[in-house]
Amino acid sequence: MNTRTFRRIALVIGLLGASLAGAQDMTVINARILDGTGKVIDRGSISVRAGRITAVAAGAPAARVGTVIDAQGKTVMPGYIDAHRHLVTGNPDQWLANTAPAQLQEFLDAGFTTVLSAIDAPQLLEARRRVQSGQIKGPRLFAAAMIPLAGQVPPPANAKPAPGGFVDPARTDPARRPLGPEVAPAIPREVTLKAIDAAKAAGYDYLKTIMNATTGGPEIETLKFVVAEGKKRGLPTITHAVSIRDTLAAVEGGPALLVHTPHIGDLGADPVATRKIVDAHIPMTSTLSVFIPHFGSDSKPLFRDRGPFPLDTLSSAGQGPVNARQLWDAGLATYGYGTDTQWPPKQTLVDELRGLALVFSPQEIVRILTQDAGKATMHGQEIGTLEIGKLADIVVVDGDPLRNPYDLVNVVITIKGGEVVFRK
Ligand SMILES: [Zn+2]
Repeated sequence: MNTRTFRRIALVIGLLGASLAGAQDMTVINARILDGTGKVIDRGSISVRAGRITAVAAGAPAARVGTVIDAQGKTVMPGYIDAHRHLVTGNPDQWLANTAPAQLQEFLDAGFTTVLSAIDAPQLLEARRRVQSGQIKGPRLFAAAMIPLAGQVPPPANAKPAPGGFVDPARTDPARRPLGPEVAPAIPREVTLKAIDAAKAAGYDYLKTIMNATTGGPEIETLKFVVAEGKKRGLPTITHAVSIRDTLAAVEGGPALLVHTPHIGDLGADPVATRKIVDAHIPMTSTLSVFIPHFGSDSKPLFRDRGPFPLDTLSSAGQGPVNARQLWDAGLATYGYGTDTQWPPKQTLVDELRGLALVFSPQEIVRILTQDAGKATMHGQEIGTLEIGKLADIVVVDGDPLRNPYDLVNVVITIKGGEVVFRK
């Protein structure tokens, strides 16, 4: 037995010690397996013990254990992962009581077994507790707490509130404006430290930062400080940056995840910037659907806040995918599915596929939605692929996503940690 096999087995035995709520023994047979790493098994089987994958094999399983799921030749893949979402809408207490149970089930119905909340009200943590205790069903939730990088600069003159009073920041993103003379005020270090400690105490998984660099401002130095202090407390930092300028500033700060593809500015015309971003080896999430209009029943283009689409942002619909391809071709190590929307997950998947399918092959899209999104959450050792020792998060899909990526929408069974949580 080589060391690697031994470690694998030791890992599996160790993991089996920890029980998973609702987890079962299970055998999936007659499966066309796309394991998330790029490997395809035309006819195979997957064995699950106590919620973990114990075998992925061509042909029939050595033994049928527990619940037998006959995939009938359909495609079997890792559970989908959205590595950048927002879940809490409206009044957070009402969301928790009334909306969360159905909304979280909707993710499972669409095949999503893991979701990274890149900022939500703290009620999300209570929803997660309810999922973990089995009170409600939902995907695995990872959550970020906001840590500001600088004080406020005055809002832009064109920041008109949308109907309802809320201004979606993406409507009048400061990242679109040329760099002005204004400098954002620095936040005292002890205030930042207090916020980081509060995030840790509340049970958050990451620190979320927003990079809108001002001229000679404190943002990059603060990001470095947040990254370092977060690391000491086991809290990786994730960073929002949407222009090339701000993405370069973010990269300097060294976060663990960039939660957007830069869609302001053309990386095709900037090979030096492309190189810097790729060589930083920071995973990135796609979020290409934010600037691709969603069409309602009256065919009027809608923005993600359901208001009229701000047409002056429309160039981002093309620039995001093109920049994504530039980075991918330059060797970007990890590009994970992320959407940054509040639309229902299945509709969001269709929307995001429109952007991804412009520049990525179906094979690449499968990797983006599974393995790479898993790595983007920083839990890639547990989720994102169908491999021995990993959590048994599995979807059965009707159709062939390697021919038509839109078939990814046709999920017929979702399994989370060895438990069937959706069956069409
Ligand atoms: Zn976001």
